[in-house]
Amino acid sequence: MNSQNAQLPMNHSRTGPAVAVIGAGPMGLAAAYRLAQAGADVTVLERDDRIGGMSAHLDFAGTRIERYYHFVCAPDQTTIDWLREFGLHDRLRWTDTHMGFYFNGRLYDWGGPLALLRFPGLSLVQKVRYAAHVLRAKSISDWKPYDRFSSTEWLQRWIGPAAYEVMWKRLFHYKFYEHQDSLSAAWLGTRIKRVALSRKSLAQERLGYIEGGSETLLDAVAARLQALGGRIELGAAVEQVLVDEGAGRPQVRGVRVNGHERAFDRVVSTIPLPYLVPLVPQLPEDERAKVAAIRNVGVVCVLLKLARPFTRNFWMNINDERIQIPGLIEYSNLNPLDGSTILYAPFYMPQTHPKYGREPQAFIDETLAAMRLMRPDWNPAEVLAATASRYQYAQTVCAPGFHDALPPMKSGLHGLFLADTSHYYPEDRSISESLHVGSALAALAVAA
Ligand SMILES: Cc1cc2nc3c(=O)[nH]c(=O)nc-3n(C[C@H](O)[C@H](O)[C@H](O)COP(=O)(O)OP(=O)(O)OC[C@H]3O[C@@H](n4cnc5c(N)ncnc54)[C@H](O)[C@@H]3O)c2cc1C
Repeated sequence: MNSQNAQLPMNHSRTGPAVAVIGAGPMGLAAAYRLAQAGADVTVLERDDRIGGMSAHLDFAGTRIERYYHFVCAPDQTTIDWLREFGLHDRLRWTDTHMGFYFNGRLYDWGGPLALLRFPGLSLVQKVRYAAHVLRAKSISDWKPYDRFSSTEWLQRWIGPAAYEVMWKRLFHYKFYEHQDSLSAAWLGTRIKRVALSRKSLAQERLGYIEGGSETLLDAVAARLQALGGRIELGAAVEQVLVDEGAGRPQVRGVRVNGHERAFDRVVSTIPLPYLVPLVPQLPEDERAKVAAIRNVGVVCVLLKLARPFTRNFWMNINDERIQIPGLIEYSNLNPLDGSTILYAPFYMPQTHPKYGREPQAFIDETLAAMRLMRPDWNPAEVLAATASRYQYAQTVCAPGFHDALPPMKSGLHGLFLADTSHYYPEDRSISESLHVGSALAALAVAA
């Protein structure tokens, strides 16, 4: 999706249709706010006890922080536009960040031409090819031709199979496992481009964060939505989308929430699509089949508070056969927070993987063991607090041909509008994309 906000007519009188928005993540809140601005009578139904979805916060040993690491890149235009719209632009901060690459038992600097030249894992020719590939990805604006082939194929063509083994194979493996060779080149390319365009200069990476975290923006959206008469109900799990099948063509008539039927003219779903399908038995067969064919991976993300910094890096990629984590994110090297040192360790994997169902403590122990391997002088007694959060549908596997694999945002079932993070395609997961797709959903629901 491109990053322009969908334009909607403004009408604050709330004479419009009654709309249920399912999910209070950034997409649901964005859709609800734009609908309320257009005069709809909006109710957001969220099954969690808080807003935010994947961007939700928690109180962690005295620090208010997101369950999952969040950074902003310079091309995240919709986030920047929304912060400006809500008078929060001065809460967006930029930091000159460092990146590391833990490769075969040693931590190297990463992320700039000098670091690339010094890195011992690639030959000079491989380094030139690697840099040329990043420059190529940065220059592409039409990703359609890249939708057709796999990122593995694309990368190997540019940097060669041996450099692919060093730079990418393990990262893909420990995020996607059996799906590691089923990723579209378009999806990977937009990801490389987003980060590459966030550099301050060739030598210096620069990433952003919102002071107070994602909830600074999401709380503001929620407050303005409520000021327009919209409602947000927490602990409200939608169990079924109700359909009137008598009137010639099936038409949405409401939802069942926590055992109660509620009437709505339209339903806008922003929950992961695999959750939606069982809630709508009347969903057209072609849409049902499309959702069934999409694969997702889950995440268990470890969050640690440490007595002192572990490294100077914000991000560390890992390629070491003893460690089954694709990277560590030392978030406080991006966002100084309240002075705490915060580190995240994401364990992505398909929910079918035997490790996925382990207790949180098993993931915490595995993280501490990896940190000991990376820095044998490091003492686990420096861990002041530890927790882990789990999200079932954390990352869509965007396979080649994904563009045509997506179900339409305007369902064939009259009155139902649906999208989830897979509708960002070819862009990767981000709050910016959710705000954008949420606005687009609202525009469709208003026009119906
Ligand atoms: C580990 C990790 C790292 C990330 N890092 C970044 C980053 O650095 N930068 C960035 O911009 N983005 C990042 N993201 C992505 C970003 O968090 C998401 O793109 C965004 O939050 C998705 O928002 P959403 O509203 O589309 O979906 P979700 O956040 O998935 O929200 C869906 C909501 O629906 C609710 N729900 C589900 N079922 C029901 C039901 N039956 N009834 C009612 N409610 C229901 C859920 O509880 C949830 O609140 C990251 C995500 C993860 C997991």
